[in-house]
Amino acid sequence: MKEKEEIIEKYRKAGKILSEVRAQAVTKVEEGASLLSVAGFTENLIHEKGGEPAFPVNISRNDEAAHSTPSFNDKSVFGRDIVKLDIGVHIDGYIADTAVTVDLSGNPELVKASEAALNEAIRIVRPGVNTSDIGGVIEDTIHSFGYKPIINLTGHGLAQYIQHAPPAIPNKRMMHGVVLEEGDIVAIEPFATDGAGKIHDAGNAEIYHLVSLKPVRHPAARALLQKIEMYKTLPFAKRWLGDNIDFAMVQLVKANIIQPYPILKEIKGGLISQAEHTIMVTADGCEVITL
Ligand code: MN
Ligand code: MN
Repeated sequence: MKEKEEIIEKYRKAGKILSEVRAQAVTKVEEGASLLSVAGFTENLIHEKGGEPAFPVNISRNDEAAHSTPSFNDKSVFGRDIVKLDIGVHIDGYIADTAVTVDLSGNPELVKASEAALNEAIRIVRPGVNTSDIGGVIEDTIHSFGYKPIINLTGHGLAQYIQHAPPAIPNKRMMHGVVLEEGDIVAIEPFATDGAGKIHDAGNAEIYHLVSLKPVRHPAARALLQKIEMYKTLPFAKRWLGDNIDFAMVQLVKANIIQPYPILKEIKGGLISQAEHTIMVTADGCEVITL
């Protein structure tokens, strides 16, 4: 096989594992279940099926849009929440990224708004489509349900060991977009809300990524950094590194070797739904690799 075909096969394998994992993971989200058990189940299943998590399972509830994942000793359980499960799998760094909303809150239309926006967006993807038009379709579809898209979150390209590569896939019509070409692999991820349609950083990070490899003096920080290097440039969860690592983590953050991903919340506290698929642009449309 040519190198390019081998790479596409790795994306497809990651996507197939991911869709199987997603189907089982959603069944674990129910009132009273712990977030930590769902994260552990999901990440273990990815390993069992021969993949690697491309990032910690994001379990974001209600006004949280993204970047929430349980801590090492997390005790929180699901209530009547609107839950976003955002899951990634990689094979040799080739990433498939998907998200689904599990609604325990009684807001089925909010869930449908982001699902329909994703379906409508996928429908117009083909070589030559402008990312601004994808954003426009997402925006119009979400508005048709009476909700707002979250305009400062976007879909994205994917590259080896890089979860957020260009181009951005906006969730609204833009002045200037980018034209997609055959072979491009991107994640499209509409978010719908009954709030203002924007998110902000809200602290309490449990997800980090490596930004620059530098020498560290402190032995505990040095040992921790060795573990972190395993994840290359992909996001990792603090809980993956074990317990009692707070001091070493702080050292690495202070030295700007790792950076946190703060939890993102809706600025007016609005409820949020999300839907996401990874797609590959084909000659006459696109192939959804996380279907
Ligand atoms: Mn995602
Ligand atoms: Mn994504």
